[in-house]
Amino acid sequence: MKNPLSSDFTIGFLGAGQLARMSALEAFRYGMQVAVFSDRPEDEPVQFMTPHSFTGSFSRVEDMIEFAKACDVITLENEFIDSEVLLRLQEASGTPIFPDPRSFALIENKRIEKETFEKAGIPVTPYAVVENAADLKAFGLKYGWPFLLKSSKGGYDGYGNKTVHNTEEAEEAFRKLGGDKGREILAEGFVNFTHELAVQVARNEHGHVVYPCCETIQKNHICVAVKSPAPIPEEIQKKAQQLAVAATEAIDGKGIFAYEFFLTTEGELLLNESAPRPHNSGHYTIEGALTSQFENHVRAVCGLPPGSAEMTAPHAAMINLLGTDDRSARIDRAEEALLEKDGHLHFYGKLSSKPGRKMAHYTLLGEDASVYDRAASLTGKIRI
Ligand code: AMP
Repeated sequence: MKNPLSSDFTIGFLGAGQLARMSALEAFRYGMQVAVFSDRPEDEPVQFMTPHSFTGSFSRVEDMIEFAKACDVITLENEFIDSEVLLRLQEASGTPIFPDPRSFALIENKRIEKETFEKAGIPVTPYAVVENAADLKAFGLKYGWPFLLKSSKGGYDGYGNKTVHNTEEAEEAFRKLGGDKGREILAEGFVNFTHELAVQVARNEHGHVVYPCCETIQKNHICVAVKSPAPIPEEIQKKAQQLAVAATEAIDGKGIFAYEFFLTTEGELLLNESAPRPHNSGHYTIEGALTSQFENHVRAVCGLPPGSAEMTAPHAAMINLLGTDDRSARIDRAEEALLEKDGHLHFYGKLSSKPGRKMAHYTLLGEDASVYDRAASLTGKIRI
């Protein structure tokens, strides 16, 4: 790869949402050109940022080839493109893709992901592939009700997940998830947890950095807030960081990765999910860490040494600003949040707002854990 610190170096993003946008902003800081490929019509945060914008299908190599040839390196903002397609795109264009499609192949399917991490000694939630009504019943008998059904591929933010309380619900959810049409479905034991945690790791040939263990707070399966560091004992934070690094090594990851853990009521850490890309849990690192997850995304995939992941303040809180109204995108009543010292607003540039859509976020840094309540109160009146 040519020196990424050249003004004609082009980094390409497959996907044009807010994650690619925040990474692209960092690439611009490094003097790079940015190219983007999206499968959606206009309303996409990155397409307005660069003339090198391509559209087509993520499942057709021929659609992506022109984009790939315009790039010196390609990276992704989601994990929904088949690793085989990525491999063929890499071969056909000669442009490297990071994380490597072979790393993707180890985590793109939830069953394979769990097998990969179990093999590396990382505890995961109890699971089994279920193929019929008898399997569903057997899982309930073995692990108790309720439990979760998840499609092996393509789920996110709770889409593709169902909690089921009895055999009828399980059979209905199995059908709804496409289990009767040959989709692979996993049953997963219901975990009683005290906290949901996340850790990001940036890694490449120069080494790795690991971010603090933070807590993620979800409502209706969507992350609504993050507290960093997580309000849990330091030794558990350290253990989560170690597991996250081990997981990145297990897939020989080059890029930025995020790992979500459950801290069970018994004090055990279980890996729930991994993401081979920047993650909502790491948005606070833009101001809250010496090097943000987005800057380290760019550095790691371009072969530059990852920067320090140390925090810039003792505490950080991040509030996701989800759409409150169905309208063209606009933020109202943000004055209080903007006036706050060390409060930082990020608006993603999507054209339209819908209730629940991730539109913006707000980060507040401070000396103690009260930043979370303060951030929640400062953003409480915002309409978006
Ligand atoms: P996921 O799409 O797997 O990240 O799941 C979304 C959310 O569903 C998680 O953040 C948890 O709040 C909840 N969840 C997922 N799996 C489990 C589980 N095995 N036990 C309890 N809650 C879960």
